[in-house]
Amino acid sequence: MKAEQQFSDLHDEKQRAAVLRNLADVTLLLNQPRQAIAYYQEAVPLLLDAGLNSAVVHAYRGLSQAYEQLNEYITALKMQRTYSDLLQAELAQISNESTQRLREELDLRHYIDSNTKLEQLSASQKGLLEQRPHLLKLQLWVLILAVTLALLLGYMLWRGSGTARLLHSLATTDELTEVFNRRAIMEAGRQEWLRARRYLQPVTCLAFDVDHFKSVNDSFGHATGDEVLKALSVTITDMMRQTDSLGRIGGEEFLLVAGNTDLLQAQALAERIRQKVETMVINGLGERRVTISIGVAGYQQNLSFEQTVQLADKALYHAKRSGRNRSTIYHSGMGQVPVHTGEQPQLKLVEAGS
Ligand code: GH3
Ligand code: MG
Ligand code: MG
Repeated sequence: MKAEQQFSDLHDEKQRAAVLRNLADVTLLLNQPRQAIAYYQEAVPLLLDAGLNSAVVHAYRGLSQAYEQLNEYITALKMQRTYSDLLQAELAQISNESTQRLREELDLRHYIDSNTKLEQLSASQKGLLEQRPHLLKLQLWVLILAVTLALLLGYMLWRGSGTARLLHSLATTDELTEVFNRRAIMEAGRQEWLRARRYLQPVTCLAFDVDHFKSVNDSFGHATGDEVLKALSVTITDMMRQTDSLGRIGGEEFLLVAGNTDLLQAQALAERIRQKVETMVINGLGERRVTISIGVAGYQQNLSFEQTVQLADKALYHAKRSGRNRSTIYHSGMGQVPVHTGEQPQLKLVEAGS
C-alpha cells in the first residue's frame, strides 16, 4: 500500500495499476473479497489506459473469484464472462498476430526464393553476356575464314581456268604466226563440215603456199622468212571474216576454213588475198615481193573435211604448175579453173580423184 501511495505521488499510473492489481490478488488470497474488489475496480481503468490487457483479463478473473467468495454468483458469473470474453479476444489477437507473422514469414521466404531465382537468372545472363564477345569473335573468325576460303577457291578456279585457257591456247596456237596450228585448224574444219552437213550451208577451204619461199630464206635469211610468214598470217586474218579460221599446216603452208561461203565467194576472197599479198611490203625484203598460190575446194556431200583438203591441195598443186601467184578452184563437176593470176594463166581441168 505504501508502494501504491509512492507511485501515486510520482504519477506513475502504470506502476500504480500493477501494484493495485497485486494488492487485489493478495487481499483475495487473504479472503478479503470486498477489499480485493475495491482494488480490482480501481486497477482496471488504469490497466486499460496503460494497455496492460493481460492484467485486465486477470483482474476480471480475480473479480469473479471475489464475488464468488461473497456468494454474489450472478455478478461473479458476469465477471467470469467478461474474463472469458477478454481472454478469447486476447487469444484471437495472439492468433491473428501469429497468422500475420506466419504470413509475413511466408511472404519473406517467397521473396527470398524469388530473389534467389532472380539472382541465378541474372548470373546466367551475366555469364551469357560475358560469353557474348567471345561468341561474336568466334563468329567473326568463322566468317573471315569462310570468306578467305571462298576467295582462295575463287582465285584457284580463276587461276585454274586461266591456266586451262593458256594451255588450250598453247596447244592450239602456232608459236610463230599465232594462228591455229595444224591440229586446231583440222579440228575447226571438221566442226565446220559437220555444221554444213547439218544445216545444209556451203563451206569452203583454201590452201595457201608461199611461192619460191626457199629462195626468200636463201636470199634474205631464215629470220626474214619468218617475218614473211607472220606478215602473211596478219594479212589473211585481216581479210577473212571473224567466223573463219586460219591455221598453219606446214612450213609455209596455210589453210583457211571459210564457213557459210560458197565457191564463188571463196574465189573472190582468194583473189583479194592473193592480190593483197603481192603488194605487201615486208621489212628486210627490199624491193622483193612475195606471192602465194591458192587452191580452193568446197563442201561436197560424202566427202570428209580431210578429203576436201586433199582436193584443195590438188588445186594448189595445179596453181603452182600453172605458173604460181594464182588461185585455183577445184570442183568435181567443173574441174580445176584457174582464175585471175599474176603470171600467165594456164586453164586446166582436174577431175576429182585425179
Ligand atoms: P614452191 O613455190 O614450189 O612452193 O617453192 P618453195 O621454195 O616455196 O617450196 P619448198 O618446199 O622447196 O621450200 C619451202 C621452204 O620453206 C623450205 C623451208 O626451209 C622453208 N621453211 C619451212 N618452214 C619455215 C619456217 O618456219 N621459217 C622459215 N623462214 N622458213 C621455213
Ligand atoms: Mg610448200
Ligand atoms: Mg612454197
